[in-house]
Amino acid sequence: MRAGPAASMPPSAAGAPIDPARLAAMMEAVSVFGGGEGGAMMRLALSPEDKAARGWLAGWFRDNGFAPAVDAIGNQFGRLELAGPGAPVVMVGSHLDSQPNGGRFDGALGVVCACEAVLAVRTEMQRRGVAPACNFVIVNWTNEEGARFQPSLLGSSVFTGAAELDWALGRRDGDGVSVAQALDAIGYAGVDTVAVPDAFLELHIEGGPVLERAGRPLGAFARFWGASKYRLAFIGRQAHTGPTPMAERKDALLAGAYVIAGLKDLAGEYGLELHTSVGRLEVFPNSPNTVPGEALLFIELRSASPEILAKAEERLEVMISAAAARADVAFEVRAIDRRAAGRMDAGLLALAEKAASAHGVPVIALDTVSGHDAVSLSAVCPALILAVPSVGGVIHHPTELTAPEHQAFGAQILADMLLALATQGLSAIRHGGESR
Ligand SMILES: [Zn+2]
Repeated sequence: MRAGPAASMPPSAAGAPIDPARLAAMMEAVSVFGGGEGGAMMRLALSPEDKAARGWLAGWFRDNGFAPAVDAIGNQFGRLELAGPGAPVVMVGSHLDSQPNGGRFDGALGVVCACEAVLAVRTEMQRRGVAPACNFVIVNWTNEEGARFQPSLLGSSVFTGAAELDWALGRRDGDGVSVAQALDAIGYAGVDTVAVPDAFLELHIEGGPVLERAGRPLGAFARFWGASKYRLAFIGRQAHTGPTPMAERKDALLAGAYVIAGLKDLAGEYGLELHTSVGRLEVFPNSPNTVPGEALLFIELRSASPEILAKAEERLEVMISAAAARADVAFEVRAIDRRAAGRMDAGLLALAEKAASAHGVPVIALDTVSGHDAVSLSAVCPALILAVPSVGGVIHHPTELTAPEHQAFGAQILADMLLALATQGLSAIRHGGESR
């Protein structure tokens, strides 16, 4: 992979130089919690491994003079008060939870880069002898991944008010353990209230191949895809797979199969504009010689276009009825979670471009198809996600990797953006950006 101009990282006069060795050491330290063979990471939300990683971050906050806070959904914050209590707040961070058998960099790199960048800014402001114009809050959002508890982005959604706290606390994992119980179990049922910040920045691995193919070290997610996630049950009749005549079967899984195949065809009709999937299936009673009485499908529709998404939902609903009729079963839509498509903040994007151009690097504008906490935050404050290259575009897999020089370059641009906010306040993102 071409490293690009990032590799040497000349300190720019305008920047806050980060320490790549310190960044690498932090990344090593946090990777211990849930880390396995070949880069594998198993740090499900609110698990003992997550607790340990949170403990590491809490220790880091303590050692570096950040005031810790934990809210009722377990979001973990560290506040660095540099500009006095009334000053604007810039929040920066990502998530420490992982997918099962996931990788080390998804989420964790964003938290670690936030730590490094804020330290670099504090050092630079001290060196200059200038009082900062804003305070910083580092955040680790609860259950970003949606692997153990659905939906994803749970912590950031509660934080922004998009999800009700009580509803979120009542979500249950596959073993019936609720978020509230899991938070209690690891000691992260917090009582602190943290205000919506004046801006939010997240660094995240791209998790796609665009930057690597372009040979560029940095992108920004400028548009985000919307998603409609259905939890759909087909309800048939449990029967013996031997004697029951074929014509009399009410096979819930068969209806599910029609929908799975139909969704693939539906995506094909929209070229690259629509992604569809059924990623999880729960079959009851799940026995080789019993006609399935119930099949629960976890369906996803994703698009950057609200119109396409709405049309796809209509088509899905027709498809569900047709599949149920064809298999002679009933159905029940048990839940629909929707996330709207949209754009990230233009002012922060302009700031990212300015910071990167000081290093002679353009910022590639990307779409994010997957959800990110910054997408949640974009509903309540200016927000942006910086993206760093993923080797081979891999994410949610043990071989997930971002080259050390790309980690460091991303952290550097993050630090330079935070420095601009620390010196100019929010005017750093109001010029050039569209007003909100
Ligand atoms: Zn992530």
